[in-house]
Amino acid sequence: MLLLKILNRIDPNLIWALYAKRCKKVLDRSYFILSFDCDTEEDISVVWDVHSKLQDIGITPVYAVPGALLKKGHKVYKRIQKTGAEFINHGGREHTYFDKTLSRHASCFFYDQESYSTVKEDIFLGHKILKDVLGVTANGWRTPHFGTFQKPEDLEFLCSVLKELDYKFSTSTSPQMAYQYDPIYKTHSLIEIPVTGIFSEPFNIMDTWAYFGAPDRVKTPEDYLVDVNSIKKLASETPLLINIYGDPSHIHDQPKFFQAMKNLVDITPNVSYSHLLKDTYGKIRSLR
Ligand SMILES: [Zn+2]
Repeated sequence: MLLLKILNRIDPNLIWALYAKRCKKVLDRSYFILSFDCDTEEDISVVWDVHSKLQDIGITPVYAVPGALLKKGHKVYKRIQKTGAEFINHGGREHTYFDKTLSRHASCFFYDQESYSTVKEDIFLGHKILKDVLGVTANGWRTPHFGTFQKPEDLEFLCSVLKELDYKFSTSTSPQMAYQYDPIYKTHSLIEIPVTGIFSEPFNIMDTWAYFGAPDRVKTPEDYLVDVNSIKKLASETPLLINIYGDPSHIHDQPKFFQAMKNLVDITPNVSYSHLLKDTYGKIRSLR
């Protein structure tokens, strides 16, 4: 890990070279997955518009919707599911709330601040609601606010719960795991697919919050396009896994986001997690 940090300080391109080398072992070509965490009611009102715009350019996102919000937005999420979108479990309870003093949504219900029994209960609740509302038996998972739930013992606990539900994969770890291990790897009998980092800052997650949502953001929509184009260039030269996520409410009115997605899909077919796993299963290494 220290070595990775040193490499990054010398030149972030070295981290991407390492990542590309790891990708080559698992992938025959580049793959692009776009997933959406739909954490607020604002997402419910814009998500169809975002979904259909993306489908027009050949992208079907994967959806991670907390159960409580899946119930509130069942009509639109059912409509999306009918277009063939993959849904993964993102917990049962809501993990944001509307803060009146801030006049915006703020985060709550962090798994690292809850007991393991509460975490387990929430994972089971999310699973049940997906089944009840969409008729989906989920086999993939994204931890709510996963950045704060990365301790080895947390991840081991998580895997044990997901295995109880017979899950195949989770996409709940930071980009550094992909540099340390592989872009897709098996740990505690579960496949993990870390999310993609920012091109100029490979240890930071490339989410839409940083560029379009955060009230104190320094990055701009133009920066998003530039960073995506850098990843696109690399993915056109060598097999690369691009696992980007965002929130529909951050980007529904942001042309630069849609332009960036179109640029990616021009050179890299968009797939679901299940599709990626089907193509790569035999090559995924086990950590232990
Ligand atoms: Zn979330």
